[in-house]
Amino acid sequence: MADQKKTDLLIIGSGPAGYTAAIYAARAGLNPVLVTGAEPGGQLMITTDVENYPGYENAIQGPWLMEQMEKQAKNVGTEIIFDYINTVDFSKTPFTCKGDINEYVAKAVIVCTGAKARWLGLESEEKFKGFGVSACATCDGIFFKGQDVAVIGGGNSAVEEAIYLSKICNSVTLIHRRDKLRSEKVLQDKLLNTKNIKVEWNHELDEVLGKDGPKAVTGLRLKSTLDSKTKEIKVDGLFVAIGHDPATEIFKGKLDMDSEGYLVVEKGGTKTSVKGIFAAGDVQDKVYRQAVTAAGQGCMAALEVEKFLQE
Ligand code: NDP
Repeated sequence: MADQKKTDLLIIGSGPAGYTAAIYAARAGLNPVLVTGAEPGGQLMITTDVENYPGYENAIQGPWLMEQMEKQAKNVGTEIIFDYINTVDFSKTPFTCKGDINEYVAKAVIVCTGAKARWLGLESEEKFKGFGVSACATCDGIFFKGQDVAVIGGGNSAVEEAIYLSKICNSVTLIHRRDKLRSEKVLQDKLLNTKNIKVEWNHELDEVLGKDGPKAVTGLRLKSTLDSKTKEIKVDGLFVAIGHDPATEIFKGKLDMDSEGYLVVEKGGTKTSVKGIFAAGDVQDKVYRQAVTAAGQGCMAALEVEKFLQE
């Protein structure tokens, strides 16, 4: 039978939100237990250079940053457990969360399970991930300064990323599978009025073209969604912006979510629909999605838990 662990505060997830919540909670004397999940460190573990996390003069590596956060959380008194939570019972207090290894019983829980970028699933996309293929323009756009890039998608993310990249890159090609964008009208107008952005309507990505040694993207093969004809375009980078999936499967029916599965939190805070359960980071934020905003929300959640436990 699984061991039972009792704690005042359980933190689920080990990205910037989870570790920051742990650092604040541990320093407040809450003796938090943090369960890492199956992929400790979260999305930054698959990022290379990070240039926008404040406090570092030069670029740092995503995995290194997460290692530092883990060490810091541990040093201030967090118990970090490599386990994966499968089921939760938030219907009564204390709350119960069952993992592969232990069962956790907690007075308060901070959910920091994050989100994952959706990918197209092409082998060539996988091959060049981190070498010209990215899912985050804010993180990686600067590495394509003055170059030609493409963005895939037609939602708010894709359009915002294209506009953002147009200020850094020589040219941006937005590739969309239909002849209408899904994004807000105001963003569409901005996009269509930006000189160095071109839209390839009714096209999808057939293949990322590139070279080895050093690995780099050199172009894309596009396929028309109207007549299946293919053509090649020359680009140095590709940004896939076809949506994210929040990791909220186990909270279905237990915490309020929006239509896309993101946890709903109280405006300006981290309280979920269940008193004593808080959420921070990409699991509740589909707009900003940055390591630094996730960390900020982790801090907010810990401060809110402290107040909740005092009450
Ligand atoms: P969306 O789900 O809104 O859009 C995804 C886009 O990707 C769609 O245009 C879709 O095409 C396209 N797509 C999906 N799968 C594929 C595929 N396999 N091949 C090619 N294209 C594909 O995701 P977003 O990330 O843009 O936005 C998610 C949510 O976050 C939305 O609610 C959005 O409003 C919100 N958001 C808000 C922002 C803001 O307020 N500033 C900024 C960013 C996001 P199709 O249209 O044909 O379905």
